[in-house]
Amino acid sequence: MSAATTRSRTPDRLCAEAVDLARTAAEEAAAPGVVGEHVSAIAEGDRVVTHLFECKDPGYRGWRWAVTVTRASRAKLVTLNETVLLPGDDALLAPEWVPWSERLRPGDMGPGDLLPTDAEDLRLEAGWSGEDVPPPNSVVSTEMAELVEAEDADVTDRTVVPVRGSIAAVAEELGMRRARVLSRYGLHSAADRWDESFGAKTPMAQAAPASCVSCGFLVAIGGSLGQAFGVCANEFSPADGRLVSLSYGCGGHSEAAVMPKPPRPAPPVLDSMATDEFPLRPAPAGDTGSVPVSDLPAADLGHS
Ligand code: SF4
Repeated sequence: MSAATTRSRTPDRLCAEAVDLARTAAEEAAAPGVVGEHVSAIAEGDRVVTHLFECKDPGYRGWRWAVTVTRASRAKLVTLNETVLLPGDDALLAPEWVPWSERLRPGDMGPGDLLPTDAEDLRLEAGWSGEDVPPPNSVVSTEMAELVEAEDADVTDRTVVPVRGSIAAVAEELGMRRARVLSRYGLHSAADRWDESFGAKTPMAQAAPASCVSCGFLVAIGGSLGQAFGVCANEFSPADGRLVSLSYGCGGHSEAAVMPKPPRPAPPVLDSMATDEFPLRPAPAGDTGSVPVSDLPAADLGHS
């Protein structure tokens, strides 16, 4: 037995000598051949000693079988207290546990997965619920609407107060009639993320002949983000279907390279395709072989 203790107190002698009892207990708890050499005995308290044994399981490198034994006061019989597997100083340990919400990465979600959004998610804030009551002197308040209606009734027969211009209509138009909408922080973080992927600083944009703002494939979007982003609709672009910064760009820019027209053949040099007649035999003596001008085709004379 190696005489190693990490506590200041001296282990109880009888408990410290009960190595065989401790080993038997460890071997009962472990698989056969997994309990190795005795490492140390540690005094846990009065007549309480823990024996440590090497763990030879390759999956638990550096771990120890810890068997605690004890005995009653004035008793000589040492009994078993507990057996556990504990990590040593050089034990191979699993990384510290991280909650799933912190482990989650973009792209981890699959079909059918549900991702709960925290009630205090900073990216969101409350939308317009309809519970806000406009001040009484507001042009869209109920009181003011009734007043306008009464005045109008004196002048015309119009009795219906137009809904257009009400808070609900404006909220509807702005997309605010949802339980929660993007907060300013959510808006900015999304814009930063998109700009990082499809923004002016990307290598693709740096090498582009022109930016998206002048590209015919850019689909404009509404809202405040529309001032800086649009959707690319060029199927050959790496950003097809993605939100791109107006200062992004790629080689697929609609005006980057105009397709050259197919070359047209040059017009024929001769304007006549008529055949010329040649004699098969030498001309008789005295015949110069020349053709009278009057016999030449009109085209050869340059007449049309
Ligand atoms: S084709 Fe290229 S330049 Fe045009 S919108 Fe898409 S990413 Fe921008």
